[in-house]
Amino acid sequence: MLRHHLFALFFLSAICLSGCGNNSEPDLIAFNGNVLTMAGQNPGETTIVSAFAIKNGNFSAVGSDAQIKALAGNKTERLDLQGRTVVPGFNDAHMHPLAMPSQAIDLSEIDSMAQLQNRLSQALNSQHPRPYGWLIGMSYDDTRLGRHPNREDLDKISTQVPILLLHASMHLCAVNSVALNNAGVNHDTQDPPGGKLFRDKSGQLSGLISERPALELLFNEQQPQPFPHDLASVLDGLEAFYPLAHSLGITSYGDALVPPELALGYLLSDPQSAGMRVNLMFDGEKMPAIQYFVELNSLLESLGLNWFSSPWLRAKTVKLFHGMSLSGRTARQFKHYHGRPNYFGEEPQRGQAELNALIEEVHQLGMQAAVHSNGDYEIDMVLKAIAAANASAPREHRHRIEHGSIVNENILQRMAEQDVVYAPHSYIYEKGPMIEPYGALLWPRMFANKSAFDYGIVNAANSDYPVSALPPLLRIQSLLSRRSRAGKVYGPEQRLSIEQALWAYTMGGAYATFEERYKGSIETGKYADFVVLAEHPGKVEEDKIKDIKILATYVDGIKRYQASAE
Ligand SMILES: [Zn+2]
Repeated sequence: MLRHHLFALFFLSAICLSGCGNNSEPDLIAFNGNVLTMAGQNPGETTIVSAFAIKNGNFSAVGSDAQIKALAGNKTERLDLQGRTVVPGFNDAHMHPLAMPSQAIDLSEIDSMAQLQNRLSQALNSQHPRPYGWLIGMSYDDTRLGRHPNREDLDKISTQVPILLLHASMHLCAVNSVALNNAGVNHDTQDPPGGKLFRDKSGQLSGLISERPALELLFNEQQPQPFPHDLASVLDGLEAFYPLAHSLGITSYGDALVPPELALGYLLSDPQSAGMRVNLMFDGEKMPAIQYFVELNSLLESLGLNWFSSPWLRAKTVKLFHGMSLSGRTARQFKHYHGRPNYFGEEPQRGQAELNALIEEVHQLGMQAAVHSNGDYEIDMVLKAIAAANASAPREHRHRIEHGSIVNENILQRMAEQDVVYAPHSYIYEKGPMIEPYGALLWPRMFANKSAFDYGIVNAANSDYPVSALPPLLRIQSLLSRRSRAGKVYGPEQRLSIEQALWAYTMGGAYATFEERYKGSIETGKYADFVVLAEHPGKVEEDKIKDIKILATYVDGIKRYQASAE
């Protein structure tokens, strides 16, 4: 018997002598770098190494040049980093890649109504592509224009082509007369629940529309909606989006509002082949469909088909809305608004009992609730609902507060105790002027990124694209400096260090999707997702971080983007 075992051992070691050495050879080694691993002792800290090895899509070793070079074999690819900085692939925890047709005209830099009209007329005359017939503009900023565009402003551009301009907040839009007429929407049309058609003094529609239910009134068979909504347009949108994201260093993201039926669109977009890791956040307005999806998915999983629980596609989050808007200055606060002693914002549409029931339903489904909430009064309600749901069935839930724009000490304490993930905006660079009316006293309590680190709350950084621009390095600059484009700093108390900002954009997002053991840092065993930067973001001037060139992006050890040579 013993002899039999010894023989087996000898046989196995003989195999190893001929094969195992080659098998452990890395596919790639990278050396001579400044590698910020984001694998520090605590959140927001990092270790620094110079080299790492990759095998089968994972980091197989991390260490010094000498250690890593010693692992290389004949077939190992060698990447000399030439002293460049490497960080883990960026994870944008909350964005809307399909919110906008790719043909939308960017209006975020437009400063006057005349300039806006010029830009749109030019686009019309140059046959700019018009999805489903619409001329679409995105991200106009009323604070730069002086006011919102109205129907008359847009009728001067065209009385034939429907025009739709989306405000930077994504909660408002402006349309021309033909868009209203084609849909039979006029001054007799009633506001739908949750939406508003703005009117001028004489009761005529001004062309300004707030919230999706009112916008939906404009779409019919003759005038279909221009946003990606069917399978074909979603697949087109994602095919264009993945390479764009790679070029900015993004290797993982969360789509923060996905109708459950479009999970199939994401599956068919084949994120694995495209090299993108996606977290789907289902639209909580569609709870019956989500329930159906969860049942179907557990059936798939029982058959070993992990289509929606793979390293590439995850569908365990439900996006809910509770509370009002920050840019619209309707978010409900405990204290009155700056300079308005009797105004606290608008009461949320849902009461506490209704909110509790909704979050309980998500919790019982085994899903993670990610709740849009801005004012401290609103966030307080969400935390109460999360506490109640978890008390009835305790588990590691990692429910999330999206935006969480205005907080207080009590809220921060409870977020930490309840292990709630925080996904605040990082958009002061673009939106500084928008928070101006909240008053300087409040700024240190807005987008409380630094407090999150101090309290031990996981901070999942995000762009909320197209609400603010997509490039993670611009977002990181904004988290670090809290300086607007015009140069003003809002709430310097909440500035992050470069390590904290990088951590929030890598490990923070990984934790938010229960994937911190697999990604978010450059550590042995994790997915080999990383970005090579032309410069160390901690060693350039703060306002130049956004200009650092992304040299290459790797996902699963495969190069997905390489900057062209200068
Ligand atoms: Zn969003």
